[in-house]
Amino acid sequence: MPDVHALLSASSSKQWLNCPPSARLQERFPNEASVYAEEGTFAHSVCEYKVKKYLHERVKRPQSEEYYSEELEQSTDAYYEFVVSIIEEMKRNGCEPLVLVEERVDYSHIAPSGFGTADMVIIGHDGDGKGILHICDYKNGKGVYVDADHNSQMMLYAIGALHAYGYIYPIEIVRMSIIQPRLDNISTCEMTAADLTAWGESIRETAKLAYEGKGEQKAGDWCRFCRAKPVCRACREEALSLCREEFLDLDAGAFSEDTRASPGKDDMNAPYQPDTSVPVFRQPGLIPVSELAEILPTLNRISSWIESVFAYLSSEAINHGVPVPGYKVVEGRSKRIFTDTKAVVDTAIRNGYTDLYKQQLITLTEFEKMMGKKKFSELLGEYVAKPPGKLALVPDSDPRPPVDLANTPDLEFAVLAGQDGE
Ligand code: SF4
Repeated sequence: MPDVHALLSASSSKQWLNCPPSARLQERFPNEASVYAEEGTFAHSVCEYKVKKYLHERVKRPQSEEYYSEELEQSTDAYYEFVVSIIEEMKRNGCEPLVLVEERVDYSHIAPSGFGTADMVIIGHDGDGKGILHICDYKNGKGVYVDADHNSQMMLYAIGALHAYGYIYPIEIVRMSIIQPRLDNISTCEMTAADLTAWGESIRETAKLAYEGKGEQKAGDWCRFCRAKPVCRACREEALSLCREEFLDLDAGAFSEDTRASPGKDDMNAPYQPDTSVPVFRQPGLIPVSELAEILPTLNRISSWIESVFAYLSSEAINHGVPVPGYKVVEGRSKRIFTDTKAVVDTAIRNGYTDLYKQQLITLTEFEKMMGKKKFSELLGEYVAKPPGKLALVPDSDPRPPVDLANTPDLEFAVLAGQDGE
């Protein structure tokens, strides 16, 4: 669950560790819950429900007509299965692990007033009897791949758990897993408890600066979710200087001046000589893919900044009536809707219309729930297929294996169809 109340929250730690003043600067801006955040909160509550049910706790299944979907059911199942596999493995190693769901962890001994909520804290031991602390975090998003490797959010949760339980349990190994099923991403980072503690000590000073609103404002990819971004001078300077560095000087034109200079062109009486020469482009007139690839990470940062400025100014104008010079608020196109569905149905039936409803096949997940996994597999397993996902260009650091395009012509077609706006 998001750490909504801590100034030095674990989830925003990448920001305040790289740009300490960002923690206080963001206080001036409301933490408006986005649709994605609300969907994520619901998904977390379903994860919590599933694990607690496994632990035989009395729980009520969370409901949401708005956010419930087959995809959410599958994602939360993936999280549940991963968590249960850790617990079961510890049991096979001969221990009854301590399992804490949605556990509040306090790391204020490192970062002032720092606390957060870890989705799962599991403490047990491995086959050799070495004490293990395992932290699990569910990520519902599919926009940004999140790696567990030395992830400061996970390390802060682990520091909090180690602080609370390290004196009861002899913890030697700390494992931190991020489960991001919608990107097929489960990544785990392992550290010794001693290394984790040393890291905590190393950030103590920066955390103090952040708490006091001091330090240097520094822009980078951690600005992505900073609420101060649209009005942050450091972020604007960075975005504009990246633009200046990366793009062609369009005002200078793309043609080489040599191609325009023809003998006698200033002589008004000279006979007309059409220029049939092949134009020579200024270097680099066209940018090769290898060069464009170099600026891809930069483009993401610039477009994210541009979007944040548009969103901020739109919200100021629409929600708070702030005039934006040169712009106005207008109404967009809207669709007709029924205001009273029951009255619509009654009126239509009274007037002899009968075919008012469509029948729809229930979803794959609903079938599975209705029949149970085993029966579903027996009866319908042969009719289930997993079509290839839409192709996407991602950085090399993404853990998914690359697609062999040369030997999978169907997938190549899928990309072309996708570009056509399928
Ligand atoms: S947007 Fe500004 S304040 Fe926020 S993290 Fe980036 S540089 Fe720091």
